[in-house]
Amino acid sequence: MIKNINKNSDIPKKISICEKCGNTCEEVESNFILYGFKLCRSCKLTETIFPVF
Ligand SMILES: [Zn+2]
Repeated sequence: MIKNINKNSDIPKKISICEKCGNTCEEVESNFILYGFKLCRSCKLTETIFPVF
């Protein structure tokens, strides 16, 4: 019987620390890949609304 395995690779999820507020959030890593900034979800929203760069 073939089990439908989750296509996610076996790489353990990195929980990174947001550079701005210091919170740990698993979105920090994906935001870093996408935008180049290590930001958690709320800080990313803030950056998006009020760009500092
Ligand atoms: Zn943050």
